[in-house]
This record gives sequence, structure tokens and C-alpha cells, in this order.
Amino acid sequence: MDKKLYITTAIPYANGAPHIGHALDYLLADIWTRYQKQNDHDVRFQVGTDEHGNKIATKAIELGTDPQSYVDKTYVNFETLIKKIGASYTDFIRTTDPHHINSVKIIWQKLQPYIYKGNYEGWYCAGCEAFVTDKEATASGGICADHQQHYQKISEENYYFKASAFTDDIKQAISNGDMQIVPEFRKKEFLELIKDGLQDVSISRPKKSLSWGVPVPDDPEQVMYVWLDALANYITVLGYPDNPEWQLYWPADIQVVGKDILRFHAGLWPAMLLGLGLPLPKKILAHGFINVGGIKQSKSLGNGVDPIQIIDEYGVDAFRYFFSRHIPTLDDGDFTWETFENAYNTELANDLGNAVQRVTGMITRYQSGVIGEIPQGEHDMGTYHKSMENLEFDKAVDEVWLMVRSLNQYIEHVKPWEIAKQIGKDAEAESHLTEVLAYAVGALLQIGDLLVPFLPDTADRIHRTFETGRIVPLEGVFFPKIYKHTTDPHTTKD
Ligand SMILES: [Zn+2]
Repeated sequence: MDKKLYITTAIPYANGAPHIGHALDYLLADIWTRYQKQNDHDVRFQVGTDEHGNKIATKAIELGTDPQSYVDKTYVNFETLIKKIGASYTDFIRTTDPHHINSVKIIWQKLQPYIYKGNYEGWYCAGCEAFVTDKEATASGGICADHQQHYQKISEENYYFKASAFTDDIKQAISNGDMQIVPEFRKKEFLELIKDGLQDVSISRPKKSLSWGVPVPDDPEQVMYVWLDALANYITVLGYPDNPEWQLYWPADIQVVGKDILRFHAGLWPAMLLGLGLPLPKKILAHGFINVGGIKQSKSLGNGVDPIQIIDEYGVDAFRYFFSRHIPTLDDGDFTWETFENAYNTELANDLGNAVQRVTGMITRYQSGVIGEIPQGEHDMGTYHKSMENLEFDKAVDEVWLMVRSLNQYIEHVKPWEIAKQIGKDAEAESHLTEVLAYAVGALLQIGDLLVPFLPDTADRIHRTFETGRIVPLEGVFFPKIYKHTTDPHTTKD
């Protein structure tokens, strides 16, 4: 059987409100999925929610409900966002799904040769639901940078997973590119982090400390550590271990994660896979954080930006455009409403919107909507495809915009409206005009193709307008200007 493509996204805790960081996971995975599908590949694309752990149990108690009823409501917030972004996912996994829970128990049993019981004395971040090494605790002054809270000192009997046994194999896989970490600087950071070896990981907690989770098989006093349970989703969602179909998709081609959880995905997760005798994912894409006006988004500052508000105010393609082009795929980025709106008005409304409207208008006016013979796409898109392969989506969109701008310059330069005035006076004028406008349509259709992964609705509108040989008039204005956060200059009239 041919190996099919598989891309995953991190599964967020079902308790919080979805934010732009989550949205970025879904968007990046969707861009890649649409690009691969456009090239005739079969792609499976997983999303989901992590529904176990203390934070969820605590929140449910606060609200006077039980954890299961609570997550049955909250996972919908993520599903709503994922749909709103237009993510073309194939599977939505919830870690409270019975199949997942059973599979995780089987995974636990298969990992037995590497599991031992021990006493954990050390640090724990309740916000991350993660054990913290002494080294990390010292380096951060005992405070979790992501949660701005002190680590707890805990002492408890736990089961341990012998991740240390896989240090050499993991280091080697990362170094030789069998499990590629993108970008390169994060790969180096991670290799530095594990230069003294992976530490064995506590993979359970006493039931009294962790009430809401998958019970450890044959030990009613212990509940599985949420990360073990959560990471397993990437294979259980495929049907592992009972449905052999998982083998068509695993190993994943890409696992998309935020930089803050790279260490779980490049350390513990590969160790689990090796313990199970499974191949490692081919690539891990670690994206950065999105700051707001240079400041990290946080609950305490209340400066978080709601992705749904952006989509409601500007449309889904405007959202997809900004976050794929103006947030570097492989590094931290910055959002402000002003930069967002400027990008919308100048690049989508002016550059692309105008090009489409003008060409449509001229063909309608001068040629009764009939498009001449379209030349084959002439632009060399090598850089675009290379950027897509390198997962530098921002650079791929830059390439598309070079084409959009050069089309606008071409129109300004050849002035089709001047050629139109020569019809009847100059015998060549009519055919020249047809040729110029057909060239412009060819460029727009090629732009439409290249935008399929990024702006699917826009790409579809461009195709519907031009692909039949006759202009199909657009419904409404293509990216009407919006001034909610900046001032309408009203300086020039088009
Ligand atoms: Zn934390």
C-alpha cells in the first residue's frame, strides 16, 4: 500500500478560549494540506482537544459540573474556530473518546519494558501540567515563564518512562534529518537542551493528585500523566493499534507545534514511539509566538486578540492572508489592528482587488466580456514551490504578490484604455487589446492557482470569474476597503 500524507496539529486543553496561537497551528497545517491536495496527494489532517488533567477538573468543579459535561461543551469552541478558519481537517479527536482511552491503555502495556516505579521529588508547573527538571527550574528562577507562577515542589510515587534509553537514537534522528526539526535554529536549541541526555519522565500521578485522566492499567491508585495520554492522540486518531489503516498514514509527514511544546514533541513523543517500535515523524514544524504590538499576549494583560473577531470583521481570507504572509512561518511575529488593516487595504483591496476589478471591467467594457486566447502561465514559480517545500509559507505569498504587483505595473504601462481609443483608427488596436487583456487574465488565473492553499475562497472567485472564456461578473466588491482601526485617507480617487 502506498504511504499517504499525514499532518497533525497540537491538541489544546479544552478549558481555555481559543487564541491566535491555536489558529496559527490550524492555518499552517491547512495551507500545507491544500497545497498537497492541489498536487493530487491524499492527505489526512488531524485536529483535536486534550480533555484530561487537573486544570479541566478544577474548572469543572468551579462551575459546579463534572469534567465530562464540561469538556462536552468547551471542545466546541475549538471546533468552531477550526471551521471558521476554513481548515480542511479530516479527523477531530477528543482524548475522552473511548477508542482513544482504550488505545492509550494498550500503549501503556506495550511500553512496559521501559516503565518502572519510582519516587518523584521535584518541580511541577500546574499551568503546563508538566514536571520540570532542576536545571529548568534554576534557569527560570523557579517561575514558569508561560504561566507566571511558581513551580510546585512535589514528592510522590509515580511510574517512570525510561526515555533516557532512547537518547542516542533521537539525537541521531534529529541530526541526520530522519526526524527533521524546522526551523534549523530550534533544532540546535533542542539538541543543546538534550546534550546531557533525555531524562526519564514521570508518566503517572497518584489519583489523589490527578483525578481526571486515563487510569493506569492494573493500578487503581495511579492515573496517567496528561502528556502521555495527549501525545498518543497522533496515532490513536488513525486507529492505532487495532485498525490497520493507521499504517497507511504513520509516520506523520509534518507535526505542527508551537515552540513552547517542541520539547515534548521532539523528546518524550519520539521516545514513546521508539518504545512502541514505531517510526518517528518525518518533520516537526515549530512555529513562534504572535505578540501584539511587541508585547506577549497574556490573560493578565488582557491584550489577547480573538481570531474570531478578526474573521468576523474582515473575512476568513483576510485572516488567512495576514497570518500566512505577515507572520513569519518559522519565527515569532507581531500583530496590531493597524498593521492588519493596512495590509488588508493596501495589499488585498488595492493590489489584488484592483487588478481583478480592472481586468474584469475592461474586458466587459471593451470586449463584451469575451476573453481572448489566454497564453500559458509564463512566470517561473520555482521560488514559490521551493518556499512551500521549505515550509516558509510567508515567502511563498511574497512571490505571489510580486506577480500581483508586476501585473498592475504591466497594466499601468500598456494602458489598455489608450489602446481601446485607437480601435477604428488603428487596424492592429483591437487584436492588440485582446492580447493584452488575455495576458492579464492568464496572470490572474495563475495567481488564483498559487493562492489556492492560502486564500481558497479568493482563488475560487478568481477562477469562476475568468475560467469559462467569458467574464462571470463578481458578486460585490472584491475586498472592499475597511477603516475600523485606521483612517480613510480619501486622498485620491481611483
Ligand atoms: Zn507553566
